[in-house]
Amino acid sequence: MLMLGRLIKRVFTDLGMLIYGDGCIICNESCDELHGLCLKCRFEMPTTRYCFLSDNPVKEHLLSLVPIVEASSYLHFRTDDRWRHMIHRLKYRGEWRLGVTFGEMYGADLKASGLYDDVDMVIPVPLHILKFLKRRYNQSEYIAEGIAKQLGVSLNRSILYRRKNNPSQTHQHATDRWANVDNIFGVLRPERLRDKHVLLVDDVLTTGATLASCIRAIYAVAPTCRVSVVTLAVAGNIKA
Ligand SMILES: [Zn+2]
Repeated sequence: MLMLGRLIKRVFTDLGMLIYGDGCIICNESCDELHGLCLKCRFEMPTTRYCFLSDNPVKEHLLSLVPIVEASSYLHFRTDDRWRHMIHRLKYRGEWRLGVTFGEMYGADLKASGLYDDVDMVIPVPLHILKFLKRRYNQSEYIAEGIAKQLGVSLNRSILYRRKNNPSQTHQHATDRWANVDNIFGVLRPERLRDKHVLLVDDVLTTGATLASCIRAIYAVAPTCRVSVVTLAVAGNIKA
């Protein structure tokens, strides 16, 4: 049933792309550039370039919460409404294909950086089943799909699951965010993580509370697993 829903969603999105033509995926101006991004948007894209630095603000922030190998975010989530809107379209408007597109662009940078060369497996941060049924897709899976393709490693969508359907963190106070991410993730067949270097993928890094909870769940059942983290965007509270 879930597979059927996902298939129907893909068909309708493909039809939508046929109807609306192939303008730039950000500004909708006509464009025939690689990945459907016009030159102006490509030039103005608020990339962090953090993936090329072993010391960067995202890694420093996450290391203050939990041990990790590498961490970075592709875009700053603050500079321009078009980019903020792109994340909203990806998360809430059914435009999951944006996830694959930006995942592939980010994956190319991750590969070029050389810091993620020994990653064995890419794992998206899961949604709770109720949220998945409501939204019909997990945007992080599509970002992870693009990244895994570029890194040439497997994508695993089933090894992590969410025990609790914690509410969206967007409009909560920081203390509430920490309170409701306690022990919310579980791991299925943890032996698959033994001695592996896994790359966790999420959409937006805000406090890191959800990611830290996810990583602790992995270490609790697979202590020899090493974890790196990438997110498509990083909120302005984590500054260079
Ligand atoms: Zn454009």
